[in-house]
Amino acid sequence: MKQADIVIIGGGPAGLAAAVSAYDAGNRNILIIERDEQLGGILNQCIHNGFGLHTFKEELTGPEYAARFIKQVEEREIPCVLGSMVLDISPEKVITYTSSTEGLVQVQAKAVILAMGCRERPRGALNIPGYRPAGIFSAGTAQRLVNIEGYMPGREVVILGSGDIGLIMARRMTLEGAKVKVVAELMPYSGGLKRNIVQCLDDFGIPLKLRHTVVNIHGKERLTGVTLAEVDSHGKPIPGTEEEYSCDTLLLSCGLIPENELSRNAGVEMAPVTNGPSVNESLETNLEGVFACGNVLHVHDLVDYVSQEAAIAGRNAVAFVNGQLKHHGAGIPVSVSGGVRYTVPRTIDPENMDDTLTVRFRVGAVYQNAYIDVYFDDKRVSHIKRPVLAPGEMEKVVLRKSDLLGQNIQNIKVEVTQG
Ligand SMILES: Cc1cc2nc3c(=O)[nH]c(=O)nc-3n(C[C@H](O)[C@H](O)[C@H](O)COP(=O)(O)OP(=O)(O)OC[C@H]3O[C@@H](n4cnc5c(N)ncnc54)[C@H](O)[C@@H]3O)c2cc1C
Repeated sequence: MKQADIVIIGGGPAGLAAAVSAYDAGNRNILIIERDEQLGGILNQCIHNGFGLHTFKEELTGPEYAARFIKQVEEREIPCVLGSMVLDISPEKVITYTSSTEGLVQVQAKAVILAMGCRERPRGALNIPGYRPAGIFSAGTAQRLVNIEGYMPGREVVILGSGDIGLIMARRMTLEGAKVKVVAELMPYSGGLKRNIVQCLDDFGIPLKLRHTVVNIHGKERLTGVTLAEVDSHGKPIPGTEEEYSCDTLLLSCGLIPENELSRNAGVEMAPVTNGPSVNESLETNLEGVFACGNVLHVHDLVDYVSQEAAIAGRNAVAFVNGQLKHHGAGIPVSVSGGVRYTVPRTIDPENMDDTLTVRFRVGAVYQNAYIDVYFDDKRVSHIKRPVLAPGEMEKVVLRKSDLLGQNIQNIKVEVTQG
C-alpha cells in the first residue's frame, strides 16, 4: 500500500489550491488524485473570461486561471496521478483508486481533502414530461461539446434554468451562430450572477422569462420544439399561459449538486441545504482529518472564493498531520435566520480559528435594502446594510477570533432581514 500524509481527491481549482497551501505550510508528502487526464477541473471547458479578478487582479479565462495553479503545483513538484478515479475512502483513510496504468491502488493517508467538485442536475431530476428525443443536453455537457470536442449541439436553442452555466452557454451558442430563443426560469429571480445576466443575455437581446418552465417536449427522434408556461407562486403551470417555441436543442441549467457519493460512503455527515459535507471552522468534516473545499462543499459563484477556501483546508490538513489541530468537542453552532439558507462553516471552535474567519452563505430570495446581522447568543454584534442580496451571489460575514475566544458563547446566528 502506498503512503501519503495528505491525499487530495480532485485536481480542479480546489484541489490545486489546497495542495499548494499544504506544501507552503511545510508538508512534502502530498498526493493529488484526478480522474481526468489533465489537471484544472471544470475550468478547462470555461474558455470565457471573468476568472481571477480577486486572486490575480486580472480578468483571466478558466484555463488561464487553472494554469496559474497548475504551474504552482509543478514548481513545487507535488505528485499527481491523472486518469485515476477514486472509488472508496475508508474510515481509516485508506483511499482506493483505479487507473489504466496502475490498476487498483490503495493509499494510506493521514489526512484527506475532498475536492471532487459538483455535477449538474439531470433531466431525470426535473420531472419534465414528454418524449426523450435527441437534442436535450445539460448546459455543461453542451459547453464541453462546443469548447473542447468542437461540436455544435444544435442551431435553435431554448435554455431552461438561468444558473451561470445556462447564461454563459446562451452567449456561447449565440457567438457560434446558433439562435437562442429564450431562457426560461422557474423562480422569480435568476440563479446566476448579475454580471452574467447583463453580459450574456441583455447584451445579445436574449429574453429571460422568469416564473416560466417547460411543460412539454415535442419531437420523437430529434427535438422539434418545447412548450413553455408561466407558473404560479407554488411553481405550478398556469393553464392558458402556454407558448410554443420551435427548437432543435434544449439546454438544462437547473442547479448543481456536490459530488458527494464518496464522502457519504466514507461516513461524512452531510449538510441538508448545501448537500455537501457539514464542516467546522477548519473545513474539517465529522471524520477527524477529513477536510472538504470547493464545489464539493457548497456550490460557489466565483472560483476565487474556491481557491481561498481550499487554501484554508490545505493549511488545516497540515496542522492535523502535525497534531496541532485541537478537537474540543462540537464547537459553537452557527444558526441561520430570516433569508439565510445556510452557512459554511456550521460550527466554530475559536481556538482553531485564524485571527479572522470568513463565514459564507447564500440567501433564499432577492432582498433590497436588507440588513445582514450577526448575533452572539442574544447580542447583535454586527449590522450591515446591503442594497441588494440575491440567491445567485455568495455572501459573507467575517468573524474575529478575539471576539469569540473565552466568551462562552453558545450560539452564533447569521440573519438577513428586509430593511
Ligand atoms: C460553466 C461554468 C462557468 C463558470 N464561470 C465562472 C466565472 O466566470 N468566473 C468564476 O470565477 N467562476 C466560474 N465558475 C465557477 C468555478 O469554475 C468553480 O467554482 C470551480 O471550478 C470549482 O472548483 P472545484 O475544484 O471545486 O471543482 P471542479 O473544477 O469541478 O474540479 C473537481 C475535480 O475533481 C475531479 N474528481 C471528481 N470526482 C473524482 C474522483 N472520484 N476521483 C478523482 N477525481 C475526481 C474532477 O474530475 C475534477 O477535475 C464557473 C463554473 C462553471 C461550471
